[in-house]
Order: sequence, then structure tokens, then C-alpha cells
Amino acid sequence: MTSNRKRSGPVDLLKATVNAKGKDGKPKYRLDIMLNTLVTKVRFDTKRGGSPRAIGVDFELGESLYGADPRRQAGHVGKGGLVTARREVIISAGMSHALHIVVS
Ligand SMILES: Cc1cc2nc3c(=O)[nH]c(=O)nc-3n(C[C@H](O)[C@H](O)[C@H](O)COP(=O)(O)OP(=O)(O)OC[C@H]3O[C@@H](n4cnc5c(N)ncnc54)[C@H](O)[C@@H]3O)c2cc1C
Repeated sequence: MTSNRKRSGPVDLLKATVNAKGKDGKPKYRLDIMLNTLVTKVRFDTKRGGSPRAIGVDFELGESLYGADPRRQAGHVGKGGLVTARREVIISAGMSHALHIVVS
């Protein structure tokens, strides 16, 4: 709820963050949002020794890719891709999906 009693949710915060501009008119924050994107796996760096470190995620791009989506067409595979992270990977896919992605 905003100060003028308007209903708001996470999507409003995400939109405000993406659209925020600095004094120079350029985007204030480095945030890209990809719609219709199913994360399939977390990539870990295991070569450096010590604990594995998450360095990116694999994804598939396309509509209705999730297995439980009733609109999904059998055999339809999205366009694969990979995004890498220099600092950290945050998985916020919900209670059960987040765990599923991490152990895939
Ligand atoms: C019926 C119901 C009523 C509720 N009512 C309330 C309430 O009144 N008040 C309250 O505070 N809480 C309520 N909750 C709880 C609240 O909805 C959850 O605690 C909250 O949504 C958790 O947020 P989250 O971001 O962790 O996960 P989610 O809201 O589940 O978001 C996870 C997102 O990740 C996406 N995702 C999943 N897997 C992938 C993948 N592989 N690749 C890409 N994206 C993926 C999903 O599509 C989803 O958009 C309710 C829950 C339910 C089920």
C-alpha cells in the first residue's frame, strides 16, 4: 500500500527500479527483466577449491515452458541461454522451485 492508499506489490517496485533515471538521464540501476524465461540450472564454479560458488544461471526463453503449465506443448523447447554474475546469484523462485533449481 502506498502513502496515497494505492494497492502496490513487488512488480511496482521492480518497474520503479528499472525506470529510475540518474541525473544524467541514464538508468540509475543495473537491472534487466526477462519475461517468459524459465531458469533451469544454477552454474557453480567448483574449480577454485573451497565451497562451490554460484556464477550464473542457464535459462530457456519461450512461452509456457514450465512442465506444469497446461498451455505447454509437448516437446516444445525454449531458446537456451546463460547469464553470468560476477558477485552473486539470487534465486527467488518460491519455496519449492528455488530448491529444485539449485539442485538441478
Ligand atoms: C493462496 C495463498 C494466499 C496467500 N496469502 C497471503 C497473504 O494474504 N499475505 C501474505 O503476506 N502472504 C500470503 N501468501 C504467501 C505469499 O504468497 C508467499 O509467501 C510469497 O508469494 C512468497 O514470495 P516469493 O517471491 O518467495 O515466491 P513466489 O511469490 O512464489 O514467486 C516466485 C516466482 O518465481 C517464478 N519461478 C519459479 N520457478 C522459476 C524458474 N525456474 N524460472 C523462472 N522463474 C521461476 C514463479 O513464476 C514466481 O513468479 C499466500 C500464499 C498462497 C498460496
